[in-house]
Amino acid sequence: MMGALDRIPWWMMSISDHLSRICEDIYQLILPLPFALNHVNVYLLRGDEGWTVLDCGLHTAEAAAIWSEAKQALGIQAKDLSQIILTHAHPDHYGMAGMMQKEAEAEGRELPVYLSVEEAAFAELMWKRAPHAKLMYRHLLQCGMPEETVREVSDTEHFTRKGTFPQANFAGFLMPGSQKRIGNRNCEVIAAPGHSEGQVIFYDEEDQLLFCGDHVLIKITPNIGFWPKSRPDPLGRYLASLKTLSAVKVSRALPGHRAIIQDWRGRLAELSAHHDARLAKTLLACEPPATAYEVAAQLFDPTRFTPHEWRFAMVEALAHLECLRVRGRLRRRGETVWQYERVN
Ligand SMILES: [Zn+2]
Repeated sequence: MMGALDRIPWWMMSISDHLSRICEDIYQLILPLPFALNHVNVYLLRGDEGWTVLDCGLHTAEAAAIWSEAKQALGIQAKDLSQIILTHAHPDHYGMAGMMQKEAEAEGRELPVYLSVEEAAFAELMWKRAPHAKLMYRHLLQCGMPEETVREVSDTEHFTRKGTFPQANFAGFLMPGSQKRIGNRNCEVIAAPGHSEGQVIFYDEEDQLLFCGDHVLIKITPNIGFWPKSRPDPLGRYLASLKTLSAVKVSRALPGHRAIIQDWRGRLAELSAHHDARLAKTLLACEPPATAYEVAAQLFDPTRFTPHEWRFAMVEALAHLECLRVRGRLRRRGETVWQYERVN
């Protein structure tokens, strides 16, 4: 199915190309994204109380049209939805939550949206109030990116934000360590920091099934970034979380993008090895001392980037630099522009 999606434009596909049944009570809906990432997975769980939507897709005309076809195919009306659960508030997961909420309201049903406290704060900052553009502008300058490029990169933020309207109202928060009923399943809420500060994932122990959001993906490595409001060392916390999660028995992990993960431990090990190798390269790139921008240009091939992708490359390079700084391998100098130098 992945091959077909890569080749055929969305408007030539039928709903059966987007919607598939994972098991008795879970459907996967693949929605298009106007980024290189291409598409996002949404999960629909049937339960006695109604349907749960787990992650929502970016709000574009294409995604909304497919959503409406999917509801028709499954015989769901907006009033049959009981709740929306979000792993995190990135636009490709949060975007259509508000629209779905409005649809349900129009049919006389309240549709509560749940996410973690930190992700709610993130949505507030990024999508509702949006002072983030200014913060990001300063952040990228601090990384040593030339101002002309910063301007280009910043322009794309507005476009992403458009896909998050109307904004959702949050009914309550998902606390790591607690249980959450999703469809007819009892799931443990597990903190999964790194890709997003407050991302949570959902584990159904009985079935050894994990809804893993963007914490673990197959073929592509989730972006781990140091953003303007990041807590210290997101990469360090991500790697620690991979270690903890390798003790969890998972027979199938349902991710936010790409294919279902069967070899859970194997994939965790690959991701850890990937970051170890990149940390080693990052350290080498700081001889002589370098800015995050200079390091990013060595780690990646910048000629391939759209301005939108540059943003992710920068914060990814910075996450590796900050991880090495916390580990005592690098020191950071300067205020307006940060430079990293090796500690010998
Ligand atoms: Zn995503």
